[in-house]
Amino acid sequence: MTAARRILAGAVMAVLAVSTGVPVRGFAIFGSAWPPGTLPVHLQLGSGSGTLVDGSTSWNQAFTSAIDVWNAHLDLLKFSAVQDSTVPREDGDDVNQVFFDSRYYGRAFPADTLAITTRWELVDTSVRTEGDIVFNTAFTFDSYRGPVRSSGGRERWDIRRVALHELGHLLGLDHPDEKGQSVSALMNHLLGDLDALTADDIAGARSLYSAGVTSNVSFPPRNEPNDFYAQLIVIYRDLLRAAAVTTYVDPEGVVVWLSEYARYRVGLCDHGTATIRVFSQIDNTGVYGVCALTPAGPIPFPPRDEGLDFMNGLDVKYHDGLGRSAMTSFVNNEGAVVWVLEYFRYRLNGCTHGDATAKVLAQIRGEGIQPVCL
Ligand SMILES: [Zn+2]
Repeated sequence: MTAARRILAGAVMAVLAVSTGVPVRGFAIFGSAWPPGTLPVHLQLGSGSGTLVDGSTSWNQAFTSAIDVWNAHLDLLKFSAVQDSTVPREDGDDVNQVFFDSRYYGRAFPADTLAITTRWELVDTSVRTEGDIVFNTAFTFDSYRGPVRSSGGRERWDIRRVALHELGHLLGLDHPDEKGQSVSALMNHLLGDLDALTADDIAGARSLYSAGVTSNVSFPPRNEPNDFYAQLIVIYRDLLRAAAVTTYVDPEGVVVWLSEYARYRVGLCDHGTATIRVFSQIDNTGVYGVCALTPAGPIPFPPRDEGLDFMNGLDVKYHDGLGRSAMTSFVNNEGAVVWVLEYFRYRLNGCTHGDATAKVLAQIRGEGIQPVCL
């Protein structure tokens, strides 16, 4: 670990700033990351004096809760809290310490700086080798959720949200607002009333540490399944004379999310994993890899009941999660999931858009499952 350089990973500023929820994805990364595995973090914050507002009985406990939050979103890397660690506090020792100090390794904190995370990384490979988190004793801390509190005309900063921010630096995240981004993110350089990670923060970490492999299956360009679905609606209305049904998912939503669900499933993700990943994508946490490469040969598709379960969940997601209003369709959830997945099954097994559409229509007319085009 000789060829390392030390970089100040950025501080979080103690300036009140309320984030505005601009729905643009824009996390920023340093360019270095940890190798996969377990990352010990030596907690040396001490016990403090008495119970904190959120019930934590020590600074280390409050910090550990921030570690737990991040760990839930990471696959390839997990923080491991070393409680009440007594390792020496050294800079450049390849050990990650967390502690309070009035200076960080002899240097003065920049003005208004609550905490600092150091950054050591190998120059040639951009592998991160160390990050110490130093909380500035010039500030008063507590642990609580909600708007920033103060007492006696002095702010009492929530150590957990500062910890979430600094752990983001430890992972390799930079300040998006200092990289030309305008997003709601705890990783923005100003700390304020935002007390939790946002989808953008999670997407940034997942871009560095999410498990999964790139799918080896090509899905058709989006306009083709959209065209298929438009034809399906007409068939349901005019040929099957289907009654109108209420749905919360617009036709494009049906096609794009069933396509993603199918991508995870043919990438050997189970039903639950595929559903979680699609719903996270809807929340803007970014695209996930699939679970494994698709084996050669005819590509199998998930059973109808699982597809329908996904589709019903998507309806709830659009209604309760996205607040979409009801709309009318002629294709019910079961019809949507069955025939869109059939269309994709034909497409992924060698059929053109026209062939796949014709084969699904034949099935709807009762002519049975058609051969694929391999
Ligand atoms: Zn920062």
